[in-house]
Amino acid sequence: MIYVTRRAEFSAAHYYHNPDLSPEENRRLFGKCSNPNGHGHNYTLEVTLAGEVDPKTGMVLDLKDLKAILEKEVLAVMDHKFLNKEVPAFERTIPTTENIAVEIWRLLEPKLPHLHRIRLYETEDLYVDYCGG
Ligand SMILES: [Zn+2]
Repeated sequence: MIYVTRRAEFSAAHYYHNPDLSPEENRRLFGKCSNPNGHGHNYTLEVTLAGEVDPKTGMVLDLKDLKAILEKEVLAVMDHKFLNKEVPAFERTIPTTENIAVEIWRLLEPKLPHLHRIRLYETEDLYVDYCGG
């Protein structure tokens, strides 16, 4: 088994709000992040595939194809978007780094049979890993 990772970056805005909680509780739970005017992050996404090297190509998957899939399935959906307002998946789901990683997995899994891990950095010092399931 060999692991291949491609990195991509995107910028997006979000805020944290749970509609089932009172405004006070949202403020207490999420602090500054609950401001509905939102704030931005430059996210770094790492998509890891796991597979066997195809003896014909020497590759697990053509990396040009992977780049195109990331652009179409993830960047076109999330880059320069206000996630809460412009991405239907986050109309009711709070766009935390955790939930964004899960959504990216959901978007990519049908297109990438070798998908192994989504790693999403919200900042240099903070990232989440999601491997499905
Ligand atoms: Zn934030």
